[in-house]
Amino acid sequence: MRFQGRDITHLSQGKLRPLRRDLQMIFQDPYSSLNPRHTVGTIVGAPYRIQGVRTEHGVKRAVQDLLSLVGLNPEHYNRYPHEFSGGQRQRIGIARTLALRPRLVIADEPVSALDVSVQAQVVNLMDDLQQEFGLTYVVIAHDLSVVRHISDRVAVMYLGKIVEIGDRDDLYAHPRHPYTVALMSAVPVPDPSRRDAAGRERVLLTGDVPSPIDPPSGCRFRTRCWKARDICATEPPPLAPPADGSTAANHFVACHFPVSDAEQHASGRGQSAAAATAAKLAQSIEIAAGPPESAAPYPDGGGTPEPPGRAAATRGAVAPAVADPEPGTGAAPSTPAVVEEGPAREYGTHRPRHAATDEDGQ
Ligand code: SF4
Repeated sequence: MRFQGRDITHLSQGKLRPLRRDLQMIFQDPYSSLNPRHTVGTIVGAPYRIQGVRTEHGVKRAVQDLLSLVGLNPEHYNRYPHEFSGGQRQRIGIARTLALRPRLVIADEPVSALDVSVQAQVVNLMDDLQQEFGLTYVVIAHDLSVVRHISDRVAVMYLGKIVEIGDRDDLYAHPRHPYTVALMSAVPVPDPSRRDAAGRERVLLTGDVPSPIDPPSGCRFRTRCWKARDICATEPPPLAPPADGSTAANHFVACHFPVSDAEQHASGRGQSAAAATAAKLAQSIEIAAGPPESAAPYPDGGGTPEPPGRAAATRGAVAPAVADPEPGTGAAPSTPAVVEEGPAREYGTHRPRHAATDEDGQ
């Protein structure tokens, strides 16, 4: 695992500690990731104390600035996690993540535990913060609509190995690995007319997911792949561009017999269906997000911070998102990432952000 050109795989605890200023994490479960015995002020201020960072106006002021930044009321500094809703707790976790102005944020299923409407708010908040701080995200997710919405590059993993990686649009339009094609076909589309219009055919994989401790020889997907041949059992396929040159240069697939566009069209599955489905699902996130949250006052009638407006459509740096082993099951391992040097950091100076509207625990 390399970070900023440096191998960090075997670093000791002491050498990892300063690196943690640059590497932070957003956890999946906003309930268990916050200590119920600590106040919000203690939780969000912990990174400053642990890393010995001094802020210009003190830790309390820095924490309150962070709470404003993520759309929470800074006056809730002394409240406990159980007094907040799920979406608000996830914002507390994001505030803690941003305290040290990291360069790389690993987000492990950051919205999967949240209500759909709140998911859109948190995704858009992450998008805004990426613009503001020049963050690089590694997002681990199973929800392909979230992956498509938030990512620049997408890596698909099976049994702990990347089987396909490419720019978001190219990968969704031209999935080449059989597992990616199966994943795309598994995206549920609630409207039957849309389902038919997309010419969609569900790819049903047979058999169980093998044990990651003792994976199959050769290609790890061979026990469930409808294209498997003898060579798949003996030679692990390298991660490389398809031999037919049918994808972008930086689109890699680990398969001896990648699925072609012609195959997908012939079977009614794949490109058109997957691309159409994913595009519609990506749109649904924008719709679910609704108008900017900025006009909403705090639920308890507190002051409303300055609205920042939505982020531009473009995104910074690399934000690979990962789907793993089986649609709807299992957690994906993190993906190594290399990020470039970011801007200099100023601790404790943030401009306020729109208020959270995902209240139910105020
Ligand atoms: S290498 Fe063989 S078994 Fe593996 S995904 Fe490709 S065709 Fe299927």
